[in-house]
Amino acid sequence: MNIQSFTPPNRILMGPGPSNIHPRVLKAMGAPIIGHLDPVFIDMMDELKSLLQYAFQTRNALTMPISGPGSAGMEACFVNLVQPDDKVVVCRNGVFGSRMLENVTRTRGRPVVVDDTWGEPVDPQKLDDALKANPDAQLVAFVHAETSTGACSDVATLVEIAHRHGCLAIVDSVTALGGSPLKVDEWGVDAIYSGTQKCLSCVPGLAPLSFNEAAVERLKKRSEPVQSWFLDLNLLVGYWAAGAKRAYHHTAPINSLYALHEALVMLREEGLENAWARHRHHHLALKAGLETLGIRFVVDAAYRLPQLNAVYVPDGVDEALVRQRLLNEFNLEIGAGLGALAGKAWRIGLMGHTCSKDNVLLCLRALNSILSDVGLGIQSGAAEAAARTYYRQTNGN
Ligand SMILES: *Cc1c(COP(=O)(O)O)cnc(C)c1O
Repeated sequence: MNIQSFTPPNRILMGPGPSNIHPRVLKAMGAPIIGHLDPVFIDMMDELKSLLQYAFQTRNALTMPISGPGSAGMEACFVNLVQPDDKVVVCRNGVFGSRMLENVTRTRGRPVVVDDTWGEPVDPQKLDDALKANPDAQLVAFVHAETSTGACSDVATLVEIAHRHGCLAIVDSVTALGGSPLKVDEWGVDAIYSGTQKCLSCVPGLAPLSFNEAAVERLKKRSEPVQSWFLDLNLLVGYWAAGAKRAYHHTAPINSLYALHEALVMLREEGLENAWARHRHHHLALKAGLETLGIRFVVDAAYRLPQLNAVYVPDGVDEALVRQRLLNEFNLEIGAGLGALAGKAWRIGLMGHTCSKDNVLLCLRALNSILSDVGLGIQSGAAEAAARTYYRQTNGN
């Protein structure tokens, strides 16, 4: 066997994540490793926590990255907050609501499922009805930005309903963080988790998490130990808490944490509001081009996520073949539809560093050319021209 060093191609990642990583972040990751209890590293961790507080817009003391992907952040919320027999209302409008439900079942909670149509946001009225019918419910869980469909739910309203019924709210903000408005304190979110490979444009494998005082209190009042040793926040805060005598729990993913630190420094340099506006701006340019191609969005404009554009595949087009050609001929990755949308939709991501004018224009040019090629009768260059017109009219870059 002649196995040599692995050299990946340079792809443009316009799928549901990961997104492209800025060279500054890759460079930070390549810095020399130091010990995870080195005083220099501990200072970096303190900075990382305050940068995460900024990104989440929270003052929650318990704000830290979990060592694991977004799914580990999800699991951390459920294993720490759910005890056997706790009733948990799970709102499900896509793939990740189903994953939350799986977590409730496995922590032996009693789930109550509120189903919404894929492509629509969570319906506040349905949640309110479910909570009226289940006055013994203790937790509500829902996804802010459903990456499987591109729908954005109204976090502030849903949290307010949960609180009115005496429940704490667990929110999945994996795809929202850094890409669309999120205000953890102002909206009263109790427990939230995210991921690093979506709008933060960092390496995958870390899950920013934040608990407010009510969530910490619920954790402290548990009668049974957290079933997962690795994700037990009581133990993890021994390593992450401010001023704590940092004790070994597990070896932190040191170089990945350098990368997250740099990605968050870049987010702060840009400014959170500017990052949100940038995602929206390029989404509108992409939309102008896609509409020229006769491509329709899955989600109503009022609930559309700028960073995840789920669109219907035009009739008679082999969606997998188009994605394959985008990858082979343009080095461009877009996502397939999932679940109810499998075979019917594409998911075009505009996340973090990937969300730029150059990438929007490339994507439109590539789609336009392939769709003309397969005989859709579209004028060549029309999509790119529409986006360029949008940019000109908005004075945008
Ligand atoms: C990507 C994603 C996750 C899971 O994150 P992983 O890093 O893949 O484990 C969870 N929820 C949502 C909404 C996501 O988009």
